[in-house]
Amino acid sequence: MGEGEGPKEACGLFGVWAPGEEVSRLLYFALFAQQHRGQESAGMAVSDGGNILVFKDLGLVSQVFNEGTLATLQGDLGIGHTRYSTTGSTTWENAQPAFKTDGTTSIALGHNGNLVNTRELAEREGWRSKATTDSDLVASMLSRCGGSLEEAAMEVLPQLQGAFSFVMMDERTVFAARDPHGLRPLAIGKLPNGFCFASETCALDIVGATYLREVEPGELVMVDDRGLRSRRFTESPRKALCLFEFVYLARADSKLEGRTVHEARRRMGEALAIEAPVEADMVVPVPDTGGSAASGFAAESGIPYGEGLMKNRYVGRTFIQPSQSLRERGVKLKLNPIPGAVAGKRLVVVDDSIVRGTTTRQIVQTLREAGATKVHMRITSPPIKWPCFYGIDMSTRQELIASDLAVEEVRQFVGADSLAYLSLESLVSATGQRKSSFCRACFDGEYPIPIPEHTPTKLLLEKSFHLENS
Ligand code: SF4
Repeated sequence: MGEGEGPKEACGLFGVWAPGEEVSRLLYFALFAQQHRGQESAGMAVSDGGNILVFKDLGLVSQVFNEGTLATLQGDLGIGHTRYSTTGSTTWENAQPAFKTDGTTSIALGHNGNLVNTRELAEREGWRSKATTDSDLVASMLSRCGGSLEEAAMEVLPQLQGAFSFVMMDERTVFAARDPHGLRPLAIGKLPNGFCFASETCALDIVGATYLREVEPGELVMVDDRGLRSRRFTESPRKALCLFEFVYLARADSKLEGRTVHEARRRMGEALAIEAPVEADMVVPVPDTGGSAASGFAAESGIPYGEGLMKNRYVGRTFIQPSQSLRERGVKLKLNPIPGAVAGKRLVVVDDSIVRGTTTRQIVQTLREAGATKVHMRITSPPIKWPCFYGIDMSTRQELIASDLAVEEVRQFVGADSLAYLSLESLVSATGQRKSSFCRACFDGEYPIPIPEHTPTKLLLEKSFHLENS
């Protein structure tokens, strides 16, 4: 759901090497642009070439940093992170960048994604930590290798299974790496006097960087005073970018694989109007992510587009409130129908996905209370039937309403007059990419990376590997 119940993204990343620039300020604005990817904590690590300083805390980017903290974070290179937790709970220790030092060399790491062989790695390493994230585990593995971070990365990265985009650094070099399937995005940008890496291209725009290319699946890219260099740490069996990036996760002004997300979503709306037409008076988006698709639906169907739901832009996305009851209360804080706009009208309400169904049900109910005579739900993705183990917070079948219920049963649950989902074929076609270049597992159950028998759970590391605070 655009503004409702998820799915949730696992994090936003930024890495920058730009001597002479105010690096902490670049990091701040790049994280600010990627706030939608994680709102539980924010952090950055900056190096002046001799020492790495880390500052992180729970909260939004604007709550964690101020002029004072940015002024202390002086240096030529740095990495930053915004977090939504998919492994480990929301604690200060689990905020990123993860930082490890052996007294002489230090490393910092930010991670977007979820490993699927975390338990095996943690057991083999005999890993114990106050942090309980797979990201901290990887930072430990890198640190234990000794030697250069480049060689450590070449040794450790091939051992990791699952989804990972990393930004990493030692005192002098910034690194970016992407798992062999490229599940989570990571782009390279060029600055006037340096380079940067970002989960989304909207972060490149805000710091004035020009898009260079994507970090390739299985590639380790590094930048320092020797320039931008690249190595392959493993072969890529096939590309499998998360299809949900196009549907919901990425900002509409970002580009993925060369296509603007807004454009792709608009096409999804157009396709939905062709696949599931309906007589109505107004097409209403669920803000914010439904907007592009709703405009496409309106253009294709000839039904006028109109704002029918108002968003309180000062309330964070509901996914900063992890419990179900808070989520249910949260949606009313943020989405309010505009009574005059919807009263007496037959509405087509366009949203990106339905996860649990509870938020959709509330939206339908509040629109009816505001006087809508019909509420037709149109969803720009297929039913989510399978859990995600690669970093999106929908990891059990039980929480997915469409895993057991047919479309008609979901319609009854949400209380809509009609409900239709976009077909997988049309969704993929709207992206301009080939179906085989995506992970679509939550829609079709075809997991690009095999899921181990003991499927990873969010609190896996809490149970067995947690070192209590002393
Ligand atoms: S299972 Fe779904 S949400 Fe998870 S990575 Fe694949 S496409 Fe994305």
